[in-house]
Formats: sequence, C-alpha cells, structure tokens
Amino acid sequence: MCEQGENSAASSSKKGGLVSFLTGKPIEIPKKHLFGICRFVGEFEKLNRVGEGTYGVVYRARDTKTNEIVALKKMRMEKEKDGMPISGLREIMLLQSCNHPNIVCLKEVVVGRSLESIFLVMEYCEQDLASLLDNMQTPFMEAQVKCIMIQVFKGLAYLHKKEIVHRDVKVSNLLLTNMGTIKIADFGLARELGHPMSPMTPQVVTLWYRAPELLFQAKTQTTGVDMWAAGCILGELLLHKPLLPGKSEIEQINLIINLLGTPNDTIWPDFSQLAAIENFTLKSQPYNNLKTKFPVLSPSGQRLLNFLFMYDPKRRATAEECLKSSYFKENPLPCDPRMMPTFPQHRNLKQQPVVPPAPAAPNLTEVPTGPPVNLFPPERLESEPVSSGKIGISELLNSLQRR
Ligand code: ADP
Ligand code: MG
Repeated sequence: MCEQGENSAASSSKKGGLVSFLTGKPIEIPKKHLFGICRFVGEFEKLNRVGEGTYGVVYRARDTKTNEIVALKKMRMEKEKDGMPISGLREIMLLQSCNHPNIVCLKEVVVGRSLESIFLVMEYCEQDLASLLDNMQTPFMEAQVKCIMIQVFKGLAYLHKKEIVHRDVKVSNLLLTNMGTIKIADFGLARELGHPMSPMTPQVVTLWYRAPELLFQAKTQTTGVDMWAAGCILGELLLHKPLLPGKSEIEQINLIINLLGTPNDTIWPDFSQLAAIENFTLKSQPYNNLKTKFPVLSPSGQRLLNFLFMYDPKRRATAEECLKSSYFKENPLPCDPRMMPTFPQHRNLKQQPVVPPAPAAPNLTEVPTGPPVNLFPPERLESEPVSSGKIGISELLNSLQRR
C-alpha cells in the first residue's frame, strides 16, 4: 500500500511522488502505468490564460493531436494534503454526467507528471458573460437578452431535472460561443440533491446572486437558489449593470429589501423560523420597486422577474415555468442564437505583451469576426520529459463512475 509521501526523498525533491508505507522509500511506477487511460497534458499547447477563479486557472490551448482549440482548466490542489479537493471531484463527476447544449462539455481529463497536475479539457467558448459585459459599450438588445436567458433556463431545467443544483450561477460562469450558444460552466460548487436533503453550507453563490434563504441561513437548499441567481442575471442584462451588488451580507439583504419589500410569514411561510431571523431585525420597507427599477419592461417581463424573485423558494419560478413565460413569446422575440453578434475576444487581447491599439467598441450588429488570432508564442504545458517515480491519477479518475 502506498500513499503520497510528504517527507520522502522523492517528494522532497519533487511533489507528488509515492513512497512505500513499509520501507519509506520512493516507489518506481512503470512508465506505461504513469497516466493510465488519461492523456498527458504535454500533448496540449498552451496559447494563453483566459480565466482564473476560485478553483483553477483556465487556459486556451491547442490539442496537438487533433489541432482542436480547447479550454484547459488546471485544478487547484494546493490546499489539499491527501489528494483531490472535493470540489474538483464533484466538478468532474457532475460534468461527466451532463450532456446538453447549454452545459459546457467536458471532453476528457488529462494529467501532468505529478499528483497535483490534473486538467479538465473542455470545449472552448470564446466569451464569458462577465468579461463581455465589462467590455461592451452598448447593452444587449432585449431580443438578445431573451436569447441568452432562454438558453440559461434550458440549461438549468436540464440540471434541475437531474436534481443537480449548480449553486454558483453568475455571469462569469456563463460562457458564450461564437455560435451564440450559452454554456453553463464551473461545477465546483454544484451538488446533487439527496433524499432526504442534508444540511448544506449556506456560503455558496457569490453574494450578488445569493438567494434570501441562503442569506437567512436556511438549512436546506433547493434548485430555487439557481433560479434567484437567474433572476439577478436577467436584471443585470437588462440594466447593463449588476442588479444587487452588495458589499456585505447585511448590505445584500438591505438591497433585496429595498427592491422587493420586507419579507414576512404571509408571503414566506416559516420565514420567522429561519436561523438568522432570530437575531436580526429587518428594516421595514413595504413596497415592491421592481416596476420603478425596470420602467420600460413589459408587464410579462415584470411578471417573470417577480416570479423569479419570490421570497419563498417553494413558490419561486422553476426553469421549466420560465421557459413557458409569455415574455419569450411577445415582441421583441428572442433572437436566434446564430444571429447573436460576436465580440472581440478581450480575454485574449488583455494579455498581449505589447500594448495593442484600443479595441473598437463592439458593434451589436457586426458580422462574425472569424477565428481568433493567437497573440502568444506557443508554450508547452508540462513539456518536460516524463520522469519515473510518479503515479498517474488515472486510477482515481477511472474509479469515478460515468452515469
Ligand atoms: P473557477 O471555479 O475558478 O471560477 P471557472 O470554471 O469558472 O473556474 O473558470 C474561470 C474562468 O475561465 C471563467 O470565468 C471563464 O472566463 C474561463 N473559462 C472557463 N471555462 C471555459 C471554457 N470552457 N472556455 C472558455 N473559457 C472558459
Ligand atoms: Mg467560476
């Protein structure tokens, strides 16, 4: 039996080596077993970094075997002593179980030379909505907002039917391809709902998109947390700025109350039983101000937003219900995804070593811009020769059942 040795000769010189429990000596792993069925990450050519979030760094890369451009997400392992972080395992397992046009496709898992080097290979999406919104000068037109939201609801309907709650729906986790397709990404916080549901940590979902039941420390979470976040995204796309940008939990609660009024047991049965309410006096604000906030939104659009912002998670709109909303059946009709504009790829431009000329303001009616230009001298990911004495993580990954 072996485990990753912290004080061994192998691990003191290089991380991720294996030592024998019995002898304390490094164990040689035959080369053919090094990566198991997983490919070596050196087969990918790193083009540039496109994102860095809580759990990993993401690169745009080229598969040298197929020439395909992919996204490579390196999993963060530094906090772990004994293997993969649970968020990483969940992300792989849940993404593997999904197959839907609006969920990012996990193509394979590849490994580097050490136990810490695990990469998810995903289809590459040219934009994420956060950096796109940051760089767009003109807001999305309403037909485009509808096109995006329909796809978000389709993705969520698929996940929720499989009893998966994403728990981190926000603009930086919504990717957009040059074909106008939205892909829900980043399953690092996603969970499958259990029967009966066990208590979950309330510190999920970025503050701005966090549902009131999480802020008030409800013990269980439902798919409703994703629907609240989707409501925040609809609001953000229409306003072209975040709808509820709280800087602290208290401020977040106050922003929600300012917009929707103070909750009570009549509109949200059991509200006063929630853990946080016992030690907290809420400010009194009797009005729903959604109409004032979105003065030009049609009545059916207002109804949809109100339905997504039901305080009581049991009464909140489901993704299936949202897809049936009359908001999507009235003018302006949702545009076809293929008619969505394409945008300059700011994430790639940002890292250009020489200061580029100022990019032109994205034009919502412009025609697709064609394939991206590689701005970087290519660099190999883990291109050094494979050294012995390292174990492939593939056995661990192989044991993850594909459902
Ligand atoms: P984290 O858990 O660290 O937030 P994400 O999966 O959200 O990791 O990835 C961080 C960022 O990397 C995203 O916001 C996005 O900009 C970029 N990214 C992630 N996956 C892809 C992908 N498949 N294609 C293109 N960019 C991606
Ligand atoms: Mg993310």
